[in-house]
Amino acid sequence: MEELKKEEGNLSVSTENLLPIIKKWLYSEHDIFLRELISNAHDAVMKLKQLKMEGIFEGEEPEYCVEIIPDKEKKTLTIRDNGLGMTVDEIKKYINQIAFSGAKEFVAKYEKVKDQNNLIGHFGLGFYSSFMVADKVEIVSKSFQKDSQAVHWESDGSVKYVLEPVSKTEVGTDITLHILEDSKEYLETYRIKELIKKYSNFLPVKIKLENEVINKGEPLWKKNPADIKDEEYIEFYRELFPGEYEPLFWVHLKTDYPFELTGILYFPKLVHELDASKGNVKLFVNNVFVADKLKEVTPEFLSVIMGALDSPDIPLNVSRSQLQGDPRTKKISSHIVKKIAEKLESIYEDNREKYIQIWEEINTYIKFGCIQDTNFYENLKKAVLFKNLEKNWVGLEEYIERNKDKNINKDNKSLVLYLSEEKDNAGIEEILKENQIETLLTHSVIDSHFIDFLERQKTDIKFASADSDLNEIIFDSLYPFSEEKEKQMKEVFQKYIDDKNLEIQFKPFKSETMPSMLINPEAIRRMQEMTAMMMGKKNMGSFSKDILTINAKSSLAAKVMLYDSSDSEKAKKIVLNMKDLAYLSAGKLKGDALTGFMKRMVEDLNKG
Ligand code: ADP
Ligand code: MG
Repeated sequence: MEELKKEEGNLSVSTENLLPIIKKWLYSEHDIFLRELISNAHDAVMKLKQLKMEGIFEGEEPEYCVEIIPDKEKKTLTIRDNGLGMTVDEIKKYINQIAFSGAKEFVAKYEKVKDQNNLIGHFGLGFYSSFMVADKVEIVSKSFQKDSQAVHWESDGSVKYVLEPVSKTEVGTDITLHILEDSKEYLETYRIKELIKKYSNFLPVKIKLENEVINKGEPLWKKNPADIKDEEYIEFYRELFPGEYEPLFWVHLKTDYPFELTGILYFPKLVHELDASKGNVKLFVNNVFVADKLKEVTPEFLSVIMGALDSPDIPLNVSRSQLQGDPRTKKISSHIVKKIAEKLESIYEDNREKYIQIWEEINTYIKFGCIQDTNFYENLKKAVLFKNLEKNWVGLEEYIERNKDKNINKDNKSLVLYLSEEKDNAGIEEILKENQIETLLTHSVIDSHFIDFLERQKTDIKFASADSDLNEIIFDSLYPFSEEKEKQMKEVFQKYIDDKNLEIQFKPFKSETMPSMLINPEAIRRMQEMTAMMMGKKNMGSFSKDILTINAKSSLAAKVMLYDSSDSEKAKKIVLNMKDLAYLSAGKLKGDALTGFMKRMVEDLNKG
């Protein structure tokens, strides 16, 4: 080996001004210098371990660790490792020639990039980030290679460096920073500890400060999912996000192809239904923390997701806005979507009770997700639930399977009957329950969108409100009811109601008890609901056009026909009451109509 004499020279950089640029622009956060130096030290240790395993390093194995040594008197901070060390040639190659592509790329870009402060990660200029906080940096290193000369290197952050032999017996490297006056905080134990915890917590090699091991070690996401208990996942969540409620569920991601990605993502418990403050995916690269609140890797409907992703394939040297459009990010995002959908469906298969609890809490997100991304829907469509009239949760697919031949419309689609939970459905519910007609409940603004979406996905079904014109199953088709009869009834009823705008129809119900009800046209109602939603109103109330439907089978209808010629006062009263009862059972009897109804009731009661 060539003997090293003291040497002075210029760092070979592609621009004289690289170091000022690094100082000023590269990292808006000075904190990350420590992340970079610890990462280098850590890598050096891992490399030596590997060399030992391969039998290339023949020396004694030390207790591998990285030590951080602040010295307030000398105003120095030393990062010491017992890794593989560097030879003179290696220092010349890896430290003196900052001509690697990352640096060039940055210099080329930095003037154009407007949101430098938004850059996610680093440019492979790790070592030189130390000049953000130091006016002089020294390296003392001894390579693991047999009989290698230990080296001392120093530079003051200009393009000048000094390289000379030094005596050091243990293999490894000391990087010593002469801390700038305005960066003295980095000599404080609490600050150093805080930074190790934040950036380097999950590095497998021990990181010591004043003999205490600060880092937690290898993260849970690197372990085999089969070996991890639920409690460990929850504990890990608490460690990442102290003070959070227990998460609802999680996915453990582990894939090598077509990109490398590991991580654990949690769906948090939401205290408010649309908890916008939630959501934090932390990005790591090889166990080192890089960025917080990585919204770009999850679609909007998963914006509340919390957790950690570790991927060298997420491009770091771009701004956040560029990241979003990057094809790699998109691939990762759709992978995450798929995994979450699969997880939900597997919970549905394995633990119905737990799934229902999850569904109750986050069905809005799931429905929104389905509408936004049909792949998400495809992966969990078996697990789409609705409550039925008995308030039990049933799978839509199960409902369809059970009812597919019972209620077919003229287009040969099987009807999925539903009622909006937000409306009063007393009358129709009675008929449905009496005849055991299975009906689902919808309950939120998103449901009307969701129903439209489901109809587009499943072209052989049609959603129909149970009290809509589409639903014929509540009528008794076997009851003999001639057109002639209907015509007679219509004449009589119209005479007493005397309202040209009110549409009346006569049908035999599958129920003797209900004298009348309101039927509304499905298509018009849905359109009106959509309009109302866009205008920001929640409930349309009596806005939609209802058809007064008289139960041709009811004893009251028979009475009207009977009294029409003998006691028209009585007939009229019954007709008006039948009309009002229809409105009443739909919760739509209001104002003057309600007053009129009450007056007639009181009158009748006084008579009795
Ligand atoms: P990067 O880590 O991205 O290669 P750095 O500027 O952080 O860029 O480091 C440059 C190179 O210097 C490293 O790749 C490594 O070869 C060498 N190096 C830096 N620190 C150490 C160390 N503590 N021990 C051994 N080699 C080191
Ligand atoms: Mg580095």
